[in-house]
Amino acid sequence: MRHETFARAAADPHAAVTRARAAELFAGLRRVGDDGVGITREAYAANEAAALDVVRAFAAAHRLVAMTDRAGNLVVRAADDDGRAPAVYIGSHLDSVPQGGNFDGAAGVVAGLLLLAERPAAARPPLRVLALRAEESAFYGRANIGARALFGGLDAAALAARRLGAADGRTLAEAMAAAGIDVKPIAAGVPLFPLQQARAYLELHIEQGPVLETAGEPVAVVPGIRGNVRHRRVVCRGEAGHSGAVPRDLRHDAVFAFADLIARLDRRWQAMLAAGDDVVFTCGIVATDPAEHALTRIPGDISFSVEIRSQDVATLEAAYAGLRQDCDAVAAGRGVGFDFDARVDTAPAVLDPALTADLAASARRLGLASRLLPSGAGHDAAVFANAGVPSAMLFVRNQNGSHNPHEAMRLEDFVIAVRLMRFQLAAWRARWYQKGAAASSMPPVSP
Ligand SMILES: [Zn+2]
Repeated sequence: MRHETFARAAADPHAAVTRARAAELFAGLRRVGDDGVGITREAYAANEAAALDVVRAFAAAHRLVAMTDRAGNLVVRAADDDGRAPAVYIGSHLDSVPQGGNFDGAAGVVAGLLLLAERPAAARPPLRVLALRAEESAFYGRANIGARALFGGLDAAALAARRLGAADGRTLAEAMAAAGIDVKPIAAGVPLFPLQQARAYLELHIEQGPVLETAGEPVAVVPGIRGNVRHRRVVCRGEAGHSGAVPRDLRHDAVFAFADLIARLDRRWQAMLAAGDDVVFTCGIVATDPAEHALTRIPGDISFSVEIRSQDVATLEAAYAGLRQDCDAVAAGRGVGFDFDARVDTAPAVLDPALTADLAASARRLGLASRLLPSGAGHDAAVFANAGVPSAMLFVRNQNGSHNPHEAMRLEDFVIAVRLMRFQLAAWRARWYQKGAAASSMPPVSP
């Protein structure tokens, strides 16, 4: 294979240093996040602060400047960067879910730090690294808090949310204030991110799914982040009865009706995939009522959640309309009804098509597969993209999923992903910052 020949021929001269520094940083982060089972770096709590200190120590050791921004995130930049020229921001988050893994979020921060610490700096564009806080919704019920705070995206309800799992817990606003953050401008929705000083936002993240591991590929380019439509609780209402006494044609069995619905949704899903749509369906919560269900009772009710995800709004709407049609058909055919609670929508994020194409082309140039893999999980990159910063994302292969202590990532895959970022940064530098164009005459950030 031509690609493999290229990859073998052009070994990465940075590989050994990248690997050694990455191993040291990940070990440092593991030490401060170790909870005895997995890794816990709670948003605006001591172990997240300790992870930020690991980043600060690395910055100091490599003559970089680390400063906290007004939303409490850590920004690391070169000592000679006065912060005025438009830069490429490389970011991800340092918090984790309780008993999570060491690489979800941290991998993106570490990648940025390693690239920023490389010498000579002349080969790359102005670079700033963002260690974002509170990306996980596990603690305050809202995701991407540190990133949203930069763009006026935290409303009063979000700031008043109490720490989950602790009835008398402090609010998000109190936790942020305790971490030294001035909450007033955030509550007022004041934009705190210097939009005009950002040429692009680039995020590396572990995949958190099995696609790359199954395909035997180390990296993928993420073209978009799936949005979703959800109902937390739908109730299928049939009719309870004696399991031995009611013949089949007189039953209105809610569980059989639900099974019929799932079978129809599965056929619909397969047809949509065959037509080239990006979509996933999940009913993650399914229950009969323990207060009344019994081995000998025809179930009268079953409740379930529904979630549909896609990177395309039209596909989400088509899938949702299909779900309602299937419910109507099941209701008519089986004499049951469906009660839906409020529908909740999260819009998909489209990452910058040109930057995405750049990353795919660079991957091919390095002899790597250039799979486009939409993200099923939310990421900080979505916040930057939706705020108008041209944004791109890379996935690195990982094992055992994510949000659990067994989450893993091979350092050799991470080194490959960092190499791809380095290659891309050099290409962007040549295109955006050279050809006689002063950095200050950069094209404006697209809306
Ligand atoms: Zn993450």
